[in-house]
Amino acid sequence: MKLKLHELQKPLTLSLSESDDWFRNIFWVLKLKIQGPLSLHLVLTKEKEDIFFEGHLKANLILNCSRCAENAPYTFDEFFSPIFTHGQDPHEKGAELSKGELDITYFKEDELDVAEVIREQVELMLPLQPLCASSCKGICSQCGQNLNIKSCACKKDDVYSPFQVLKDFKVIKKKRRK
Ligand SMILES: [Zn+2]
Ligand SMILES: [Zn+2]
Repeated sequence: MKLKLHELQKPLTLSLSESDDWFRNIFWVLKLKIQGPLSLHLVLTKEKEDIFFEGHLKANLILNCSRCAENAPYTFDEFFSPIFTHGQDPHEKGAELSKGELDITYFKEDELDVAEVIREQVELMLPLQPLCASSCKGICSQCGQNLNIKSCACKKDDVYSPFQVLKDFKVIKKKRRK
């Protein structure tokens, strides 16, 4: 959905659901599995050269658990409010970035792709390491057994872990004290 700047004279309110193809498509492009209803309430306001987005997104997604790769249901209920300014990005000319400018994106054309803005926001809001459950035991790195289903017979001491080095270090220290 492309937004022409000169057409945005008064605030534009959009109420989107899974029946809006271009909106549902955003999730499809991101390869996100949707479960249940999808909704976005979006208000776009223009003030001089600035476009303010105020969105409230609700969605039930099925992500993949970062430990065991099984389904990890995830509920989105997030607010977002990025700002877009029409014009040249002053930072391209080497200007210093002031604190309040961090969330501002510059664009040069007369139009803004609303779908792309929403897609970026969804990507930003996704958890980096989704989990099926906070107690997920993951997969055994040696035999591939999903440890949530049953444990395996692999010797856990042989499993490489960055903490292994730390553990050995403590042992050495203790020995020295004696
Ligand atoms: Zn898991
Ligand atoms: Zn194993």
